[in-house]
Amino acid sequence: MGKSSKDKRDAYYRLAKEQGWRARSAFKLLQLDEEFNLFENVTRVVDLCAAPGSWSQVLSRVLIKNEKFGRCAWEDREAKFRQRMLNVIPSESSQEDSQQETKQDVEMANTQDESTSRPDVKIVSIDLQPISPLPGVITLRADITHPATVPLLLKALDPSYDPETSTNQQAQQPVDLVISDGAPDVTGLHDLDIYVQSQLLFAALNLALCVLKPGGKFVAKIFRGRNVDLLYAQLKVFFEKVYVAKPRSSRASSVEAFIVCINFQPPAGFKASLEEPLGVGSRLAELQEQQQDPISQSEPSKADDGITEVILEDLSGADNKNRWIAPFIACGDLSAFDSDASYKLAADHVSLPPVQPPTAPPYKRAIELRRQNGGAYGKPVVAK
Ligand code: SAM
Repeated sequence: MGKSSKDKRDAYYRLAKEQGWRARSAFKLLQLDEEFNLFENVTRVVDLCAAPGSWSQVLSRVLIKNEKFGRCAWEDREAKFRQRMLNVIPSESSQEDSQQETKQDVEMANTQDESTSRPDVKIVSIDLQPISPLPGVITLRADITHPATVPLLLKALDPSYDPETSTNQQAQQPVDLVISDGAPDVTGLHDLDIYVQSQLLFAALNLALCVLKPGGKFVAKIFRGRNVDLLYAQLKVFFEKVYVAKPRSSRASSVEAFIVCINFQPPAGFKASLEEPLGVGSRLAELQEQQQDPISQSEPSKADDGITEVILEDLSGADNKNRWIAPFIACGDLSAFDSDASYKLAADHVSLPPVQPPTAPPYKRAIELRRQNGGAYGKPVVAK
């Protein structure tokens, strides 16, 4: 397979390298923001499962650098890119323009410009893998499913936080937005992958409940499985509005989607607890009991929130009051690239290297061993 064939098959992969993003996932967050205005009035954000860091790059560039990725700027960039993708031979000057633009993007992502930095903004990013530094972002290498990660996070947000003497509630729940793009290493065993993903999601939700301030937002990746409506109903216990969103940069062929939860409203008397975290157990069920029947709550209307496309999913199983169907929102402009399509590349197309090669890839040791043994066709290793 040629080096540029992935560029051809995946427009967002190519666009990410052109614009200096560490991963194509950056477009998913930008398209979610386009629809839900996620970053409005946000100064404290936690990015869970953040490596290699493209979502954190978006946070850094939007919140610290005050860069605008509104529809106009975004479409302007796309128009240029589309022109090249459609093999309209660019003039030399437009090629130079685009090279200059790419260079600036990379530089903006890697330098701290004091004049645009925002001391009031705090961004904390967590992953099992190390994350290369980003302007204004505190990075933690930790497991989001481990209880010790919450005090670590609270300390990163507020250095005066003392896990010995303060409770999580005393930490003033300082966060406006928690985002999580967590994904386990996919095994291909569909049910197992969905199960592990749901464990990551519950860990992210528990963490969010410990740090979110009332009114805060929570966005997380989900794999839509058979009983996903139970999950939506559980989230509805804590948030006024819950949507399931599919950005155009997320492949239609993938079960991936994002839940977007708006206006955190913990039930009366609810205390986030690490000792007794939420899971699929009785604690959630009790909270749901206290809530009104979620199905009877009104659906958000198009006029209410300016959302352009709302499609209700199939209501099968809605007789169970623990189920609730979240409005499904397709986001990202329809003129945006189709992530399932292959695009023709210009004859002079040059495949760019990744912006941020993986810092600690799991295959690193295998490559080292292969090199030591003379490459792929070297002597086979004889176990002693
Ligand atoms: N949002 C990221 C970006 O834009 O660059 C991409 C995230 S990637 C799809 C999923 C990440 O989840 C991986 O980096 C993986 O290490 C992380 N992850 C999986 N399980 C985790 C856990 N238990 N704790 C922390 N991170 C985890």
